[in-house]
Amino acid sequence: MSEIETFRTETRAWLEENCPPEMRQPLTEDDLCWGGRNWTFQSNAQRQWFEAMAERGWTVPDWPKDYGGGGLTSDETRILKQEMSRIGARPPLTSFGISMLGPALLKFGTEQQKRHYLPQIARGEIRWCQGYSEPGAGSDLAGLQTRAEDRGDHWLVNGQKVWTSYADKADWIFCLVRTSTESKQGGISFLLFDMETPGVSTRPILLISGYSPFCETFFDDVKVPKAQIVGEVNRGWDVAKYLLGHEREMISGMGLGSGGSLGAATMPQDPMLRAEIARFDVDALAFSAMSERFAAMWKAGEAHPASPSMMKYAGTELNKRRNELMMAAGGSDSLEWDSDRSRNGAAPRDWLRSKGNSIEGGTSEIQLNIVAKHILQLPGA
Ligand SMILES: Cc1cc2nc3c(=O)[nH]c(=O)nc-3n(C[C@H](O)[C@H](O)[C@H](O)COP(=O)(O)OP(=O)(O)OC[C@H]3O[C@@H](n4cnc5c(N)ncnc54)[C@H](O)[C@@H]3O)c2cc1C
Repeated sequence: MSEIETFRTETRAWLEENCPPEMRQPLTEDDLCWGGRNWTFQSNAQRQWFEAMAERGWTVPDWPKDYGGGGLTSDETRILKQEMSRIGARPPLTSFGISMLGPALLKFGTEQQKRHYLPQIARGEIRWCQGYSEPGAGSDLAGLQTRAEDRGDHWLVNGQKVWTSYADKADWIFCLVRTSTESKQGGISFLLFDMETPGVSTRPILLISGYSPFCETFFDDVKVPKAQIVGEVNRGWDVAKYLLGHEREMISGMGLGSGGSLGAATMPQDPMLRAEIARFDVDALAFSAMSERFAAMWKAGEAHPASPSMMKYAGTELNKRRNELMMAAGGSDSLEWDSDRSRNGAAPRDWLRSKGNSIEGGTSEIQLNIVAKHILQLPGA
């Protein structure tokens, strides 16, 4: 047996033994394990699964072992994902540290920053939020106005962010600030700071799904130690863009849902709807194959820098379609909002939440502009 086949066999056996049955159920946003200073596990099964995976570094299987990762090769990582998907295993830890900040630190962080922050992310000790958007800077992100003044041994941060997901639950923020007004993109820096620093406050915003994961975030004379900058002063736009590529890749994965397929359980009698579902399943399979190919090209440094935009557009449109079909297949039962039978309206809340997929991380229109300009070389987008 080849080394890689042995890895698959051992991984399969390990997962069978260590992934509790409760952690193999389909999950809603409420079932996610976010970690962080104030995290309380929702069940023993959730704790057990998280601890087993974290001990192996498999919350971030492809990060180097020195930084708390599993040290797996890309082939091993792919096999681990396939084997987890085969048994419907939930992710042991969901975190903006894993999907966004970590990759940016691996590329732009100092050795000291990597050794400090990455193992904390891998062990789920710190919950991060993303301070990019502002009331006047969404699609035009580089127009951001939150400023950080150099005060010798620290930065003094003043301004406001908006749509900061889970800011009220996060321990730390990665934040874009203006350190110079001389150039738009060239005057931005990338700071990390504790949300408990005096002067930071948050105000939740209610969402269409009935949940309130969003916040307005205010900074009023917040002192940030000088060392907590990632990359160089006024070069934070490079870090921000790189992180956005990873964010878009992560969001595109939502198109695959739990394995992508809608599954036989929801298959309705109506032949038109059945045909729509079959068409969706074929598109989801094609997207899944494209994702794997893209991930391999990305790792090998062969992917076009704008390809996360292509993936994000395709994946989020697919996820919205999946949710529409789930609602149609469920009939009037899908409209249940508050009941045990509907798991507190999981389907309609997910459907409403999916509307935001084509906005967060950059809207579909912006992704299409990027594809038009950088991949198709069209003028004037
Ligand atoms: C679920 C969700 C979670 C989010 N989480 C975070 C977070 O954690 N942290 C964070 O910083 N931000 C977050 N955001 C904010 C998100 O990044 C912004 O909403 C997004 O970038 C769009 O900015 P905007 O809302 O200001 O819209 P605008 O930029 O005002 O856009 C309004 C409309 O105009 C269109 N438009 C704008 N410019 C162009 C153009 N040049 N060409 C064509 N059309 C254009 C847009 O596509 C959109 O339809 C989140 C958003 C959502 C929905």
